[in-house]
Amino acid sequence: MDNDQFDRALGYGTTAFSLLKKGKIPPKPQFYELLYTYASGTNPELNARINAILAKGGTPDLQIAETLYSEFLQSSDVGERLNVVSAEIATRIGAVHEAIDNALANANNYSGLLQSARGDLEQGMGPEQMSKLAMTLLHETQRMQTTNTMLQDRLKSARKDVTALQRELDAVRRESMIDPLTRIPNRKAFDHDIATAVERAGRDGSPLALILLDIDHFKLFNDNYGHQTGDQVLRLVALTLKSSVKIDDTAARYGGEEFAVILPGTTLEQARNLADRLRKAVQSRELLKRSTNEKLGRVTASFGVAAFTAGDNVVSLVERADRCLYAAKHKGRNAVIDQEHELVRKNTGKHFAA
Ligand code: GH3
Ligand code: MG
Ligand code: MG
Repeated sequence: MDNDQFDRALGYGTTAFSLLKKGKIPPKPQFYELLYTYASGTNPELNARINAILAKGGTPDLQIAETLYSEFLQSSDVGERLNVVSAEIATRIGAVHEAIDNALANANNYSGLLQSARGDLEQGMGPEQMSKLAMTLLHETQRMQTTNTMLQDRLKSARKDVTALQRELDAVRRESMIDPLTRIPNRKAFDHDIATAVERAGRDGSPLALILLDIDHFKLFNDNYGHQTGDQVLRLVALTLKSSVKIDDTAARYGGEEFAVILPGTTLEQARNLADRLRKAVQSRELLKRSTNEKLGRVTASFGVAAFTAGDNVVSLVERADRCLYAAKHKGRNAVIDQEHELVRKNTGKHFAA
């Protein structure tokens, strides 16, 4: 690194620190990385987001930093890991090619040698020449054996490496579908699973239901008890969903404090009953502050329930569930509303007045 590069990096670091200080964000490595990346301008999308906040006279705070970190940097970790694995695979394949090329070259040499030995033998030779030729052939045969053994060893170890890399690749693929905070499927997994479920329902006419839920007054919760406690609430809700659904269902984190449950083979009525059980399960858990055991009250959520009907696609189904969810908020929260409810049937518009 030359002096200019050093000065530039120091400048980015200083900007990152002053932003951390201004937003009262703890200078943990991930937040420093986030704001250093911003200062260096290497991620235009991230910069656009932060610049929009600064333009309004605001400063990124801890909450924003957490969100942006998981959106821009944490998710790229999966990409990073994928790059590392791909590079390793390429190196292994390169080494195997080299070993094969070597072995081929040797085999060619050897067969050339045999050919010329055959010519010599046909012409006839004295015992001394014969013994010399036999020695050469013996020597080259040994060399050939050594090369073959080496090739075998390399192939064996490459096979082991490739199996390990394959496992790593599978792990990365799985990881890219998991929300790091709650450890349940993320939006990408949801998008994949809902598309599959809608396609199947359209094809074979089997029932399919979708629940969308959104934590009530979550912002207040964050504001009153801090973002860490907010995160704990998200984990708690995720756990409640995960432990209440069947193996073929998908309970996913849809967005910030919104979750979705895909229910293949489930009718609207069954889904509404499940949503109500989930509502009660969420409400029944009293939150305790870990450090002091102080009671933090109860969390509630609002639920929207839709079922696949002929002609639906992913967008129309999700939109209907979303409309039901907004109706549940409108009704006063901590409620379940399904698509048959009069509040939804009467309102064709997407949103309700708050
Ligand atoms: P409503 O009952 O109408 O849904 O009110 P609300 O406060 O839950 O809704 P609003 O959309 O106003 O606020 C959602 C909040 O969720 C704001 C955002 O900071 C917070 N949030 C989003 N993602 C996360 C996260 O990963 N962790 C934490 N702690 N908070 C988050
Ligand atoms: Mg919300
Ligand atoms: Mg909410």
